[in-house]
Order: sequence, then C-alpha cells, then structure tokens
Amino acid sequence: MLPWTPLLLPLLLSLAFPSPATQSPLPTLPAYPTRLADLKRADAGPRFDRATRALLSPAEIQFSAALGHRRDTEARALRLIESFPPAMPFAAGRDIMRRSEVYALLESMPKGAVLHSHSAAAVGLGWMVQEAVRLGDSWIRLAGWGLGKVASRKLAGRVPGMHEVAPGTWMPEFRFSRSRPDGDPHWDPLDAVRSAYPGGAAAFDKAVEFNVSILSSHPEIDYPTDKTAWVKFARCFPVIGSLIGYLPLLRSQFRHIFEISLADSTTLIELRWVPNTTYDITGRVYTVAETVDALHDVAEAFKAERPEFGGFGLIPSLFRAADVKVVEAQLRQMVELRVGREDWIVGVDLVGEEILAPLSVLVPSVLSTQQYAHTLNTTLPLFLHAGETLLAGPAPDENLYDALLLGARRIGHGISLARHPALIDLIIKEEIAVEVCLISNSMLR
Ligand SMILES: [Zn+2]
Repeated sequence: MLPWTPLLLPLLLSLAFPSPATQSPLPTLPAYPTRLADLKRADAGPRFDRATRALLSPAEIQFSAALGHRRDTEARALRLIESFPPAMPFAAGRDIMRRSEVYALLESMPKGAVLHSHSAAAVGLGWMVQEAVRLGDSWIRLAGWGLGKVASRKLAGRVPGMHEVAPGTWMPEFRFSRSRPDGDPHWDPLDAVRSAYPGGAAAFDKAVEFNVSILSSHPEIDYPTDKTAWVKFARCFPVIGSLIGYLPLLRSQFRHIFEISLADSTTLIELRWVPNTTYDITGRVYTVAETVDALHDVAEAFKAERPEFGGFGLIPSLFRAADVKVVEAQLRQMVELRVGREDWIVGVDLVGEEILAPLSVLVPSVLSTQQYAHTLNTTLPLFLHAGETLLAGPAPDENLYDALLLGARRIGHGISLARHPALIDLIIKEEIAVEVCLISNSMLR
C-alpha cells in the first residue's frame, strides 16, 4: 500500500457517501411528485428565459415548438453523418448550415439590430473583387507579405504559377485609376488577371478570399495558436483597405451590407468603420468628414428605397495599438466629427488585438478627450472591445476594468466576463450592453 493511501481513503469515501447531515432526506415514493414540482419551481425562478417565456403569445409558442421539432430532426440526421456544423471549423461548417431548414427559418425571423459588425469584414472579399471589376479602372499587384512594394512581383506571365505560392503568403493590393498607377509596371488590369487565372474568374475570387481572409477549413493546422490567427487576421486589413479606400467601392460596400442585412431580416445596423480619407477616379481626395457624409447619403437613399430598413449608425473605430499621441489626436478628431452628427455617429471604439495595447495606456487620453467633448457640447460615447480572451489576468481581461471606469456603454465580446461575477452584476445594474459574437469568438479569442 502506498504511504498516502490511508489519507486519501476517507476523502474518497466522503465524496462517494456524503454525510447525511448535509443532504435533505430522500423522498418517499408518494412524496416524490411534490418534491419534483418544488425543485422545478425553485429552478424556474431565476432562469434567464423566464420573463421571455411568460410573454410568448400562443402563435409564438406554436412556432417555437415547430422550430424545436425541426432542429431536433436536423440534429439527429447530422449525427448520422457525424458532422455537427456548430462544432466544425466555421469555413467548413458554413455551407452545411446554409442548407439547413432551421437556418432558413432563423434567417426569415425579425432580429432587430446588429450592434457589432466591422464594416471592412462584413462583406466577402470575392464580392469586393467582383464589384471592383464592375466599377472598372481597377488594377492589381501582388506583394509577398512583409516584403512590401520593393519585392512586389509582376503578375503578367506569372499568373499560372500564382497557386504555387504557399497560401497566405501572397497579398494583392488594389488601386483604381484610368491609367497604370504611377506608371509602375507591377500593376496589371484586374479583369485581365482575373480571367487569366487558372480556373477562371470565380477561382481567382475564391483564391483571394482564402489567401487574404482568416477563413480556413483546417484552422487547427493553419492557426496552431490564437496568436497565429490574429496575425493572419491583421494582414487582411491593408488588402481590404486598398479596395475601400476608393469611395465608389466603399459606397457600394455599405449598400451591399444594408442589402444583406435586410435579407437576413435585420432592420437596423451599426457599423464599426476605421476612419480614413478616400479618393475617386479623378484622384480627388475626400476628407474623413466628407467620406462619412457620403456613407450617410448611401444609408438615406437606401432607406427611401426600402422603408422597412430602420437606418444605420456609424461607430468610428481607431487602432488602439497606434502611438498614444496619434490615438489621442484621432479621438479628438472623432469628437469634432460627432458635432451635429450625434444621431448617427453613435459611438467610438478602439480596435485591434487587445493584448498589444491595453486600455490602461490610453486612460489619460480618453479622459482628456471626454473633457474636450464637453467643451464642444457633445459627448464621446464609448463602445469598447474588452475581455476578448478566455483567460483571467492578461491585458484583454484587465481591459474590462478600464472600459467600465471610462464609462463604456457597450462592451465588445467581453468573453472573460464569465470569470468576474461582480463585474457581471455591475454591468446588469448599469445597463451596459455586451456585444456577443459567437463565430468571431470561436476564431479569435
Ligand atoms: Zn469586434
């Protein structure tokens, strides 16, 4: 017998046979139904869905039962083929989900508002490339990521070999111009490159989507750590930026977001957008203010066309990892931008990988900008990403404290709140919204 066994044995016995003093007496058979009813009542009291269930109309109760029945039928069928889409990598499970009857039903149900969507990532890259071709005057050049423009490779004549380059290692850059941009021979007409691609234009769009975006059918191989997923994610944005820096494409993109939101029965949408100047085909540069007004015009025009669309809100989102002075200057600029636009520039966010730039570093800048807003008779509503981690302790988790102290009215993700019951109580008391994004959280955390 091992020396510690005598110590362990009483512990194991106490777990297997808890002391009668700590447990209610077992029910007799006749008393069982009453005890069961008591237990169910005690459980129902604090359940999150109690109030909602009490409000359901007979038609909603009927719909809920029908939906439940279809969901169970589908779940049983999926178990037979051993693939349960929500448990699969999103890129692999997405198409199965789209064929689901339950998904179609959910799609048709009214959903109210989307409060957390990054406009740059809200539309598939394939669609953006098609739209770039449709708008015309679009050019592309290929750069090895990290090598910059100096090492950018000429596509012409090399296109058939493009697929030889390891996935994720090439990044296209786009530009709109009536002639070859800067006279640089590395630029090629997008439509020519697209149709010369092996497999044709559709294959090219798919290649761009998979090379540039974070989608992967094998995330466990492509992203062995959370860090590698974030690195790939961060690389998407310069490519997308080279497309939406062109005002006509940015306008198209917003309109498309409104269309797909409405098709999904979402009538109100608030979009995060990284403030940038834009340009048109004449080379005219539009300021940030001119650009946001152009986006507002797109929303108003869409609302006039589709009265069921409830409208949009814009949430300028600044890169938190930039130099503190730069972030502070941009925060002040956003406050100035809000003056007179408060009803649709609804808040400001600080975005980017939280661990690279804890909110604590930006506290003095945010506080002084809030004062500045006061002098301009406006406010700086903060909708901040915080707690986007599974862990308690690291910077993203600590960001929850700063977000709350800085008066954030909404918290993006907030996954690590699960580890802070006192903060959850505070959030409920202060009526702060938590923007929950399940698919995003399964990819980035
Ligand atoms: Zn987000």
